Amino acid sequence: LPELPEVETVARQLDPLVRGRYIVSARIIDSKLREKGFPAITSLKLRGSRITRCYRSGKQIVIELKGSPQGGLECHLVVHLRMTGRLQFTQDKAQLKLLKPRAVLELDRGWIVFSDTRRFGTMRLFRNAEGFKPPGIDPLSDEFSLKLLSGMLAGSSQEIKAWLLRQDRLTGIGNIYACEALFAAAVDPRRRADSLSSEDVSALRNAIRRILRSAIRNCGTTFSDFQDASGGMGGYQRYLRVYGRAGESCGSCGEEIVRIVQQQRSTFFCTDCQK
Ligand SMILES: [Zn+2]
Repeated sequence: LPELPEVETVARQLDPLVRGRYIVSARIIDSKLREKGFPAITSLKLRGSRITRCYRSGKQIVIELKGSPQGGLECHLVVHLRMTGRLQFTQDKAQLKLLKPRAVLELDRGWIVFSDTRRFGTMRLFRNAEGFKPPGIDPLSDEFSLKLLSGMLAGSSQEIKAWLLRQDRLTGIGNIYACEALFAAAVDPRRRADSLSSEDVSALRNAIRRILRSAIRNCGTTFSDFQDASGGMGGYQRYLRVYGRAGESCGSCGEEIVRIVQQQRSTFFCTDCQK
């Protein structure tokens, strides 16, 4: 599942490739993408729109569009990759079919292709940026202060690992980076959120930010499906300290890394390093 670093990677790679380009046509191939309650994505509305930038908002990729003398709406095209979604740019027409697109945006140079084998991903059109604002705090934003995190944790008796996965609190942290951040902060994933000391909270906040930034530098983590905007793989998997390493020795203390299940999700941690 793409988490914050994978989504950021795709947005960062797409931005310089598509910024300033015009939409020539928008083709929705998978009718499942036409969701009720949103303006349908059609060539009529988007033809002539110019891409002003491409960026991440929560776990979504936003393609920001302005009208131009050729026409087109001022709007935001918002893509959520979910399980297996991929958003790629290509200038090779022969490659288009091979990518098995659910939707294709033809630009004045090249194509943006949205493909998605399991079809859980979404592509929606918003006139107003308020409409797709993520519910939680972005852990890489200035808003994510120590004070804010302390206050949020203080009100919760939930296990800290499960707490981190709730997208309406912090947005974009999934199973991989939750496990890695708790290891880096030396916090046992089974502890209650409100039991963390101020030192623990500070260590956790720093670990979350450091790990997410490092994963972005390495273009995310690829296990099975994630590909970046040019079809490449992430490189962060070689830096994982505990995730997927049950039975291996902990790199810090040599103790065996264990796997437990919390809320139907695997948690990997070191019982010796994490207290
Ligand atoms: Zn250890």
